[in-house]
Parts: sequence; structure tokens; C-alpha cells
Amino acid sequence: MANLAKPMSVEKVPVAGVCPECGAHALKRYEALSAGGWFQVVKCQDCLASVERKPWKRLGYVDRGHVDVILNARKAAKP
Ligand SMILES: [Zn+2]
Repeated sequence: MANLAKPMSVEKVPVAGVCPECGAHALKRYEALSAGGWFQVVKCQDCLASVERKPWKRLGYVDRGHVDVILNARKAAKP
């Protein structure tokens, strides 16, 4: 049987406070990719209102170590 990696899931961290749109106690913080790049957002999980949105890591979940692995593999493949 193939050794498949587990699917990635986003960890949503509960945030204290109430949604300014619907009043629900359902705010959570997590990372989201949008047209403008990766953002760390706080959104109401009931009505999806955005409470906070700030730029996150440019490469998202890809860290510098991953990039180095790819670059080194490319170097090694060149004649
Ligand atoms: Zn809401």
C-alpha cells in the first residue's frame, strides 16, 4: 500500500469576543490564501465576517528549508 501523506488541514484557533456582524461567539484565527497572498485572519465561523486581516508569511506554509531542498536538488541535477 502506498505511503500517502495525510491531507493538510488548517488549525483554527478560537478567539475571545463576539462577532460585530451577528453577535455570535464564534471567532477563530487562521491562515488564509487570497488574491493578495497569505493573510492571518480572524473570522466569524457563523457568518464569515472578517474581524481582522493582516499579511502573513509570503510563502505561506512553505518555509525556507523547503526552498533550499528544491534549489539544492536543481543544482545537483545540472551537468
Ligand atoms: Zn458573525
